[in-house]
Amino acid sequence: MTNLTFEVITLFPKAFELINNLGVITRAVEKNLINVNLHDLREYGEGSYRQVDDKPYGGGSGMVLKPEPIYKANNSINKLPNSKTLLMTPQGKVLKQHDLFRWSSLDQLIIICGQYEGFDERVRCLADEEVSMGDYVLSGGEIPAITIINGLTRLLPGTLGDSGSLIDESHNSSLLEYPHYTRPPIFKDMRVPDILVSGNHEEIESWRRQKSFERTLERRSDLISNENYKKSPQIKRIIEESNQFMKFRIGNEYDNYPDW
Ligand code: SAH
Repeated sequence: MTNLTFEVITLFPKAFELINNLGVITRAVEKNLINVNLHDLREYGEGSYRQVDDKPYGGGSGMVLKPEPIYKANNSINKLPNSKTLLMTPQGKVLKQHDLFRWSSLDQLIIICGQYEGFDERVRCLADEEVSMGDYVLSGGEIPAITIINGLTRLLPGTLGDSGSLIDESHNSSLLEYPHYTRPPIFKDMRVPDILVSGNHEEIESWRRQKSFERTLERRSDLISNENYKKSPQIKRIIEESNQFMKFRIGNEYDNYPDW
């Protein structure tokens, strides 16, 4: 049985061919865990040219998607009871992992992709939620839509071979995940921490928790600031110790982090 049906309204359905080459997501389609129905906006365009966009009232650059084709495409979708409509826009609420969790219990997710300068303001009435990928502007809503389909599908039961990998993940608990290592034990003079090959599961667990806190403090202390973690003895100690840390490092650039 299909868990979740995505209905995507887009002027560029070909962009979604990527879903057929995306590992676990492709397998989820093959296993019928998800369904992706593409609604080509052009088919709902007006006149013999199938016009979908027009110049903005009041002047200005670029073209704006007309409301009628989007409404027609939306009307053509057979709505399921447990359904939500998302509008892709850089003016929306920035997508977070907990949004994906929220939507993972739906039966149907309708995703409207903008293009060009965006869409006629009256399209907004169709949306339950307006979603942004972040504070930057892309040329269309297709990559945001694929991002949502990808992030959501991997949460569905049966998609990942080992659903345990969802538990510790970055952003699940406001903490970033601990560092991972695999073979070989020494690579270009960089050693796998001894603890990970010790076989002591309790200590490994505790090391991972510690690294997870440290990593979040180093890179995204904003994620911790509103959380109860601040009160835990472990985090208090790490915060105290953090004054003695070496310069924090993200990638090979230190410039975001002034001397402590
Ligand atoms: N002129 C618009 C941006 C249009 S970009 C503005 O300033 O708000 C064209 C389309 O790309 C948008 O309608 C939207 O569907 C998509 N898009 C661009 N950036 C996005 C982002 N950060 N998040 C989600 N969708 C985005």
